[in-house]
Amino acid sequence: MELVSAPYRSYVLVSREQIARNYRNVCSVVGPGVEVAAVVKADAYGHGAPEVSRVLTAEGARWLAVSSVEEGARLREAGIHGTRILVMGGFLPYEGEALVEYDLTPALHSLGQIREADAVGRSFGAQIRYHLKIDSGMGRLGTRAAAPEILQALAETPHAKLEGLMTHFAAAADYANPQTDEQLAYFHGIVAALARAGVSVEHIHASSTNAIGYGRREGWHNMVRAGHALYGYVSPARGDAPRQLLDVKPALAWKAKLLAVKDIPEGAPVGYGGTFRAPRPMRIGILGAGYADGVFHRLSNRGKVIAGGKLVPILGAISMDLTTIDLSCAAALEPGDEATLLGAEGEARLDAQQIARIAGTISYNILCSISARVRRVYV
Ligand SMILES: *Cc1c(COP(=O)(O)O)cnc(C)c1O
Repeated sequence: MELVSAPYRSYVLVSREQIARNYRNVCSVVGPGVEVAAVVKADAYGHGAPEVSRVLTAEGARWLAVSSVEEGARLREAGIHGTRILVMGGFLPYEGEALVEYDLTPALHSLGQIREADAVGRSFGAQIRYHLKIDSGMGRLGTRAAAPEILQALAETPHAKLEGLMTHFAAAADYANPQTDEQLAYFHGIVAALARAGVSVEHIHASSTNAIGYGRREGWHNMVRAGHALYGYVSPARGDAPRQLLDVKPALAWKAKLLAVKDIPEGAPVGYGGTFRAPRPMRIGILGAGYADGVFHRLSNRGKVIAGGKLVPILGAISMDLTTIDLSCAAALEPGDEATLLGAEGEARLDAQQIARIAGTISYNILCSISARVRRVYV
């Protein structure tokens, strides 16, 4: 990634080109017969949904996927038109009008919701296109209704059109667990029963990043939903997994400026609670980013950042707006210089999966936690 500095205490640099490359890589792995719905929920996993959506639509993405009606409406208001937007979290009764106004396509999770969508369609003189989500065993969103009940609901709802059938895997990267195969068998049973009854559905989709990356081709159908991969990640596998097919790289670097640099004597405590005490005279740096920016408090006395091209430890408790680091090995740095909280600098690199391991969480959580206060800068 091109090295630039921006006049913010803490900011992320997002490489448009890397997002585009990751998207193209997903498209080439699944091949031309499979539509890639680009998942830009949660502000594109912290990368900024409007700009990421512009990049993806310029690359030819025909479908974007968000979590809520509000996220979909924001994209339309930001000028994202001409692409379909799937709202994976469905809609609540007060959001029916917004579905029509912003041309959003809900994933529906129950037969009752199909009837609600039908009522919305009837009142607006429109037909609401929707994707029906099947709970194939994850036990989260999705209907558990059997095929005859689904067929009954379809027959009763002329103002709603079933355009997609979808499900979601709970453990696609886990090859020690048969759950993905069980979920697929259930899902295929529903798809086949509807097909036998003459219901043809344009889009069938089940796979997100891990089922793409580990090549679970029987789960690709004619559409996949890629999120994490667009941002450069595939989860590590468990068990006896096949070779990973995706060649994606992180698109984001997170920087913070040094507000102060100073030398402290042996024995000096650092930060709230004095949870770190200098074992020798040390040079420390105070960065202008803390847990309010998304630096996990759990990284206190455990995490690292990159300063002067080297990984250096975080000292003491992370504060709301500040993080103290050890500059003993990066003594040339001065106030105003930058450290890298996530990304690469010199030979050193630190990605969201490494940070997540130390913080006791997952890479998704690290990316989505970079707060709105941290400016997004696109390169
Ligand atoms: C978030 C989400 C995705 C994308 O998952 P990734 O692992 O980030 O690719 C796909 N489908 C649903 C239903 C989701 O909620």
